Formats: sequence, structure tokens, C-alpha cells
Amino acid sequence: MAPFVVCENLVKIYKIADLEVVALQGLDLIIEGGEMIALVGPSGSGKSTLMNILGGLDSPSAGRITVGETDIMEMKQRDQVRYRRDVVGFVWQQTARNLLPYLTALENVEMPMAFSGVGSAERRDRATELLEQVGLGDRLSHRPENLSGGEQQRVALAIAMANRPQLLLADEPTGEVDSQSANDIFDTMRTLNAAYGVTIVIVTHDHNVSRRVNRVVGMRDGRASVEVLRRAGQDGVELTAEEFAVLDRTGRLQLPHQYMDALNMRDRVIVRLLDDHIEIYPDVQPTETTAE
Ligand code: ADP
Ligand code: MG
Repeated sequence: MAPFVVCENLVKIYKIADLEVVALQGLDLIIEGGEMIALVGPSGSGKSTLMNILGGLDSPSAGRITVGETDIMEMKQRDQVRYRRDVVGFVWQQTARNLLPYLTALENVEMPMAFSGVGSAERRDRATELLEQVGLGDRLSHRPENLSGGEQQRVALAIAMANRPQLLLADEPTGEVDSQSANDIFDTMRTLNAAYGVTIVIVTHDHNVSRRVNRVVGMRDGRASVEVLRRAGQDGVELTAEEFAVLDRTGRLQLPHQYMDALNMRDRVIVRLLDDHIEIYPDVQPTETTAE
């Protein structure tokens, strides 16, 4: 796998009247092609801001961001339209925002293809195939009002996949459904990831999701702070989760708050280089017994 999304020192500042809100403050993130990751973090940590930038719906204030061949910073308005139509698919939290209420599931999935000029027979075939992939092969002619919230979100996934995007973005797609439906939605995303190799980023508060993705990236104050990677165990089957802190190119490291609190670390720490690791102490003399 090669890096597909590269964010370097990404900054987003919103200006409202005289007020400036720094939504992203130097975010570094690399997503490999075909990866499925979850973005988690407290409200206001910049998750949706990042998703909107990745989706070409909003532009960053500074930094570098590329998605595949596309340099998002350099994108002109015309490129933006093409990018949103062909490169990314988006699923929102609000089911109503994803589907047109007066169209059937099949027509909803055909719609983006119609905008891209795909012929009607091909549209129908692809829409049918996608709805089967998301487990709704028997709901083709249902309108949204006759589908459950979870089913509507799975139609939304099919719509997002209609133009064969390389990147599928879902901002709290399970925020309005029960936990069984949420699990179905996550499973469906896994299926789409495996079937089409689409790279997936999910923003979620759902703790169950970490078992279904390759990597969980924790955001805090507009930066990626902690990562949990799932790696195949020695038998190649069992998965072990390991927690990582993100190290950016300038050497900045964000420690988990609970670690800092536990050792009462603030402002300054003592950093010691050993043969194969680095030790970090609170700003008091380290005891000698900890060295190996
Ligand atoms: P999250 O999705 O993690 O809850 P957001 O990306 O929505 O966080 O917001 C990050 C910060 O940016 C918050 O402080 C929020 O108030 C601010 N923000 C988000 N969108 C806008 C906007 N359109 N205008 C002004 N401030 C915004
Ligand atoms: Mg949000």
C-alpha cells in the first residue's frame, strides 16, 4: 500500500466577524490506499473540518494536502466540482441529507451517475449491484419513508459509491440509528472496502467501530493525537491493538492527557535517549532505578 491521503501541517482557521477559530492546527495524517480508518475525538476537535476538506467542500488555510493525484490546496473551482463528483463519496449523519425523499432507492443511487453522464442501462446495472452489495437488493423500489434509518444510511453508502470514488467519507453515519443498525452500517462499509478497495474514513463516537477498522486516529485540539493500530498477531488471525502517539515531522509528540495527568507532567519534561527507546520524565530528577 502507498500513501493515498497526505496531510502535512494542515491548518484551518474560520473567521467570523473579528473572531478567529483555529479548527485544525497543524494536522499531520497519512492514510494508505485501501485503508479503513476511524476518526474519534471530543466535539470541536476538528473532525468534521478535516472531513469537509478531504471532501473538497471547504478549503484549508495553510499546509499541504493531497488525495491521490489531487493537490487540494491548488484546486480551482472547476477541479473542485470534478473532485467532489468523481474522487470522493460522502455520507452524512442526517439520513435526510443523504437521500432524495421522492425517489426510490434505485433512483437515488442512479442520480449521481446521471449527473456524470452514464447511460441509463449502465446506471441501472450499477445501482442494482451496489444496492445488493449493501444488503438491500430487495428494497430497490422503496422510497426513503419506507426504509428504516439504518437502511437509508446503507442506501446512502450505495449513492456515495455510485461514481466509483477512491475515497469514501462518512461523518458520524450511525449517529441517528440504533446499535444493531450501526453494526450493519459498519459491516457494510467493510464489505465495500473489501469489494472495491475504496479508502474509507469514518468519524464516529461508536466504540464498537475500533474492531472493524484498520486504525483509529484520535483527534484533539485540531491535531491527530493518538492512534490505535490493529495488527495481525503471530498466528496471523488474532488482532492486537497497540496505542501510538503521532510524531510529526518537526518532532512534536502529543502525549495522551491521562498519561500526563497520572505523572503530573506539564510545560516541561525530561527526555532521555537510550539504545532503543526514549524515556520521558516529569520535570523532576529521574530516579536511577528505571534505566535498564
Ligand atoms: P468536530 O467535528 O470534531 O466536532 P468541527 O470540525 O466541527 O469539530 O469544529 C472544530 C472547531 O471549528 C470548533 O471550534 C467549531 O466551533 C469550529 N467551526 C467548525 N465549523 C465552523 C464554521 N463553519 N465557522 C466557524 N467555526 C467553525
Ligand atoms: Mg463533527
